[in-house]
Parts: sequence; structure tokens; C-alpha cells
Amino acid sequence: MTDPLSLGDLIDRQIVHHGPMSIATYMGLCLTHPRSGYYSGTDPLGAGGDFITAPEISQMFGELIGFFVVNLWQQLGQPKSFTLLELGPGRGTLMQDALRVAARAEGFLDACHLQLFEANPALRALQRERLGQHSPYWSDEIDAVADDPLIVVANEFFDALPIRQFVRVGDNWHERQVGLIDGRRVLGLSPTPLPAAAMPEAVRNAAAGEVYEANLAAADVMQRLARRIATHTGAVLAIDYGYDRTQTGETLQAVQNHGFADPLAEPGAADLSAHVDFAALGRVARAEGLSVAPVATQRDFLGRLGIVERASALARANPGQSDVLASALHRLTDSGQMGTLFKVLCVHSDGLEPIGFS
Ligand code: SAH
Repeated sequence: MTDPLSLGDLIDRQIVHHGPMSIATYMGLCLTHPRSGYYSGTDPLGAGGDFITAPEISQMFGELIGFFVVNLWQQLGQPKSFTLLELGPGRGTLMQDALRVAARAEGFLDACHLQLFEANPALRALQRERLGQHSPYWSDEIDAVADDPLIVVANEFFDALPIRQFVRVGDNWHERQVGLIDGRRVLGLSPTPLPAAAMPEAVRNAAAGEVYEANLAAADVMQRLARRIATHTGAVLAIDYGYDRTQTGETLQAVQNHGFADPLAEPGAADLSAHVDFAALGRVARAEGLSVAPVATQRDFLGRLGIVERASALARANPGQSDVLASALHRLTDSGQMGTLFKVLCVHSDGLEPIGFS
């Protein structure tokens, strides 16, 4: 048997046969192609992987989210049954830490139906191992949840959904595409113009050459969840790198072995992601009738939930760990680290006041 084609070869063939592809199509194939996509292979997270996320830095992150979720459940009137859905749970660390804290709230675990949305089979196996005691349920449909209140948590999930890029040329916009020149993948522009009126108001007056990124997949996920929550009550908590006002700027990036790489070079080998437009996600939720808390920085959100006090308490209980805890606190909250680049969005049904936002 001959070797199967690499993902790069498959993409190149598709371009030869069908013409240039949008950045979104390219990104989708690179990340979730069933055989060779970045998120279809082995575990990409953690110190030995390509990047490290907040829950992998410290247990404090998941613990505070557990505290946040319990508080929401209490504000909902402690329903006897509700769904806790995590999008892209990674190694299951956040949820493990969150549920350890939440277990102290009487009735919480009995009421909680844990649902996980995960593309990667290796990570699903790890999640089963770590969260099995809570009988999680995996679904391939993001909004296939019970007719219960719904609380959704997503850390570094929305940045992994495919974006489209549009470049301002004269009075119009042209979509950026991946094509081939002399057998090499290159970026170019679709010759078909889109009128400025097709772009969101905030970027309509952009100067020539500016790039606007639209994440339609993220908007679709938010819309489906918001619709459920509008009728069944609940909230979505999304944490990610991104911006709180719709704007131009190119943020598509490839990360491999903890460093930046060329997004076109090795499809499927690097993680591709883009900054999240939280304002756009908030607008989608509002259009479905939800309330939107003012977007907070990760630093302020974790600070208001008491991360400094939590770090001190843990250090008092484990003096040998105080340096590790101080360093984790710094990484999660310092503005030169994750503190201000990462933002927190909470959209919710009427009558709730999610903690950590003011
Ligand atoms: N939340 C975790 C992992 C973040 S990495 C943490 O903070 O550590 C992104 C996660 O989303 C991974 O679990 C990845 O497999 C999953 N993922 C990425 N794209 C996905 C998609 N289209 N559908 C389902 N899961 C996806």
C-alpha cells in the first residue's frame, strides 16, 4: 500500500481542482480534518505539547470557575437538574478542579449533568479518565442538551474556530484565500469584491489594506447556545485571548512547540488560532434576548473572584509551594502575561448577576 497523502498534499490537490480556498476552509481542514487535523491527533496541550493553558498552569483557575458556576446555580434557584456544558475541555483539568470545589455546595453534584463537547479522541479518552466519576456525556451537536437550565464554560475554545479574513481594497473588501504558485501555498485575494455595507459598522471606514476577521463559526455556536438559554435560562462563560470592540487587525497565528510558525507551512502540524471578537459574540447573544456583562480582563475577573486570597491560602497550607503559586498567580494575572490579553465574556438570561464583572 502506498503512503496516504499528507494533509498538505490533500489541500494542494483541492486547490488545483476547485480553485483557491478561504482562510476558514483552510483553517478548518488544518484543525479538524478527521485523519490529519491538528485536533484529531495526540494531546497537544501541556508542558510537553505546543502550548499551555490557564487550567494547566494552576488549579486555582478551575477552582475559581467552580466557585463562579456554583454561584450561578444558586442564583438560578438551585434547580434540581441542570446541564453543565464545557466546550473544548482539553485534558479535563479545569472541570476536575471546578467540580472538586463545587462538590462542597450541597445538592450541586446531584443536580449537575455534565456534558462535554470535544473533537479530539485522545482528549476525550483523557476526559473520561479524569471526569468519569461524574458520568459525563459527549455529544457531537453543540446544542443537543436536556430541557434544563444550561451553564456553559469555554476556555480557549472560540479561538480555535475557523475565521474568514477580508482585506480593504479601494471602496470594497476582498476575501483572502489560500492558493498555489509554482507548487507553493500562498495568500491572495478573491477577485470578487464585497461592498463595505457587508461588513460590521465598526470597520466600514477602515483604510486600504486593513484586514477584518469574521468568526462565523464562533457566532453560530454562540447563537445556538443563546437560543437555548433564552428559553431555558442559564449562561455562557467564555475566556480567551481577544478584543472587546470589533476592530480591524490580523491575528491569525500558528503555534508549534511553544513558538510561532508559518500558518501555511505544515498543515495539521501547528495549532492555528485567531483572537476572539467578544463584541461580536455579545451582539449575537443580545439579539437572542440575553444580557451581556461588560467584558472583563482575566486579571480583573480572577481578582474579583479572589485569586490573590486563594494563592495565599494555598501557600499557607503548602509553604514548599509558595514560589510555584506566586509564579502561577503572576502568569495568570500580570498584564505582561495573560492578565489583559485574555478577556472574559458572560452572556446570561435575565435576572442573573454573574460575579466577577463589577
Ligand atoms: N479548555 C482547555 C483546552 C483548550 S484547547 C484548556 O483550557 O486547557 C482547545 C480545545 O478545544 C481542545 O480540547 C480541542 O480539542 C477542542 N476543540 C478545538 N476545536 C474544536 C471543534 N471544532 N470542536 C470540538 N472541540 C474542539
